[in-house]
Amino acid sequence: MSKRYSIGVDLGGTNLRAAVIQEDGNLIEKISSSTPIGTSPEPAVEDIVNSIRTLQSRYGAAELAGVGVGVPGFIRMKEGVIAGWNNRPAFNGYPVRDEIEKRLGKKVILENDANAAALGEKWMGAGRQVDDLVLLTLGTGVGGGIIIGGRVLHGYLGMAGELGHVTVSPNGNPCGCGNAGCLEKHASATAVAAMSQLLFPGTQMTSEDVFNLAVKGDARAHSIFRAMGEYLGVALAALVNIFNFPLYLLSGGVLAGWDMFAPSMIGEVERRSFTYRNATTRIEKAMLGGEAGLYGAAYLPFQTHGR
Ligand SMILES: [Zn+2]
Repeated sequence: MSKRYSIGVDLGGTNLRAAVIQEDGNLIEKISSSTPIGTSPEPAVEDIVNSIRTLQSRYGAAELAGVGVGVPGFIRMKEGVIAGWNNRPAFNGYPVRDEIEKRLGKKVILENDANAAALGEKWMGAGRQVDDLVLLTLGTGVGGGIIIGGRVLHGYLGMAGELGHVTVSPNGNPCGCGNAGCLEKHASATAVAAMSQLLFPGTQMTSEDVFNLAVKGDARAHSIFRAMGEYLGVALAALVNIFNFPLYLLSGGVLAGWDMFAPSMIGEVERRSFTYRNATTRIEKAMLGGEAGLYGAAYLPFQTHGR
């Protein structure tokens, strides 16, 4: 007889991923679907349902506590729908949760992917010792999750924690959300690549290329990471001022450049936050990497949550 477990699903990347995780946080199996997530929701939902059925047949239907699904974009918790996913407009308004529940006959909890990652770090990662934390995921965009009292802060509809869209530069780069100067337009992998086009005209560099140049000592490449650190610092100072949490975590591929952006980041936080200067506050790297969202999604059914 196997132990009680739940299934965490991550719809966030290019492919669907799902993990079987036991109540004690032990990840026992992880699968990913070979088909990329397309533009229409039905095949993605089919894919999720098939993955869950496969895992359920291996570990037992009776022991399955529930399913958590992390999805990108703004979500409406109560209705279980994605309200806004910039790159996949066909998903907007689609009842993802109910469609999966209908096919499976199991309770499904939908969560924003960055919120799920923050919860995963709280459960089994860098935030295990605290009840309150913020996670910023620095990828092609910037996601955010706020954990308060061990739970995701949702706001009244489920759209809270969209920290990638806080303004860090009033007249900054335009963003798909309608704003200009969003954190994710100034402190993501995409932003690093975009800044490189200004400093290295005529080139097409990825954030990794910029990182490699900076490691070799290139001053312009360094200045890109320094700028990114300043923008992160502006956002973090505001978060520290608002929450006075003990822990703020950063994750994502851009963390490779930590040594290059952290000094300017911390400098800005010190300059802009009285709270930071007068309270012990840790700003650190997250631990679970790309698996944080799977842990968090799987944890949702274990927290007697919401509905
Ligand atoms: Zn935005």
